[in-house]
Amino acid sequence: MKKLALHWQILIGMVLGVLFGFLMAYTSWGPGFTRDWIKPIGTIFINLLKLIAIPLIIGSLIKGISDLKDISKFSQIGGRTILIYICTTVVAVCIGLLVVNIIQPGNSVSQETLTELSSAFADEGKARVETALSQKEQGPMQFLVDMVPENIFGAASSNGNMLQVIFFTIFFAIGLLLIDPSKSAPVKAFFDGFNDIILKMVDLIMIIAPYAVFALLASLVVDTQNPDLFKALSFYALSVVLGLLLMIGFYLLIMMLYVKKSPIWFLKGISPAQLLAFSTSSSAATLPVTMERVEEHLGVEKEVTSFVCPVGATINMDGTSLYQAVAAVFIAQALAFDLSFGDQLTIIVTATLASIGSAAVPGAGMIMLVIVLESIGLPTEKLEIGLALIFAVDRPLDMCRTVVNITGDATVAMLVGKSVGKLGEPNVKNWDDRLEEVL
Ligand code: ASP
Repeated sequence: MKKLALHWQILIGMVLGVLFGFLMAYTSWGPGFTRDWIKPIGTIFINLLKLIAIPLIIGSLIKGISDLKDISKFSQIGGRTILIYICTTVVAVCIGLLVVNIIQPGNSVSQETLTELSSAFADEGKARVETALSQKEQGPMQFLVDMVPENIFGAASSNGNMLQVIFFTIFFAIGLLLIDPSKSAPVKAFFDGFNDIILKMVDLIMIIAPYAVFALLASLVVDTQNPDLFKALSFYALSVVLGLLLMIGFYLLIMMLYVKKSPIWFLKGISPAQLLAFSTSSSAATLPVTMERVEEHLGVEKEVTSFVCPVGATINMDGTSLYQAVAAVFIAQALAFDLSFGDQLTIIVTATLASIGSAAVPGAGMIMLVIVLESIGLPTEKLEIGLALIFAVDRPLDMCRTVVNITGDATVAMLVGKSVGKLGEPNVKNWDDRLEEVL
């Protein structure tokens, strides 16, 4: 019998996980059972994906760059990638501002809801403001300083330092390109093999993906708080989701008009990564799968994916920036804080920067939202109330914005691949054959 495609397996796992979670939430022992016996499977899966992220970046970047015939191609790829990333993020913020100004979700929040939400989540709001303020940059050049590690082992010891690892690896690979071929050949051969091993490990991890998403969603449902609060924030949540859908529409338009590929084909190719992004709320944890899908299923060559995808997971967060724009205006509306046209322009700049600064982990976008709120002059005492207000629906929105974040990375990889002539035919190795090879 033909096995179900991976995205169907994952989707079935997700639906069953949600149903199981609801069922368990109705029993007295269910939530505890789910937390103790089901949730760990999801956590192990996320840990495995994170475990593979840094070695994958090192292996594929070295292979990608050392396969290039000349370095100028690399600076062309790098320059275009950063430029397109910034442009798509600005588009995302503008879409967010457009939607939130048309729907005006903040105006429908009653004083009662405001008081209820801000007292229910006061601690959560306070904690996030404190984290954000302690992370504030020291100067305009700080982000460049942060990119250059003083110790590679120190940098590689935390997934939060991906840009530092990328910096070192590119530097190393350029050195490799510049030495005598007789000396570079064995090093290159080593990293070619290393890269294949890591990719095989990704295959092995993906065997448990359908079970892991079941566990992740089941535990999320039993941990979900008072659903009544969801209703009070439904217009706000709807605005974010509508904006995110428009953003996906924008990517599909690029796919059709510039890349000249069918949007359905693109969505089919990237869908397992989207489903994992939704289940894990983390672009960093999804990175191994995003890279595998973009390369093998969408046909972008390694020279492009090895750079565009990890950099994208770290700095390109279109979903996050769109959400930050909607959330900032929503909070201002709900707290009756007037925003001028100039303030909205400020949001375009700060939400773009804040999304670049957000870590690729669950909930990071909400912490960096503080920077956006501060830039429009929201007084400090209102910052905490603002964050408390949106906290109840943050996790589901985080799941949705992470899907857009990784879809944006994949779209830009296709765009850059096309523009530098590195978009070929997909090289799909049949999933079952691969597993048979392995097992
Ligand atoms: N969870 C998002 C990501 O990993 C970041 C955020 O918006 O919180 O891409």
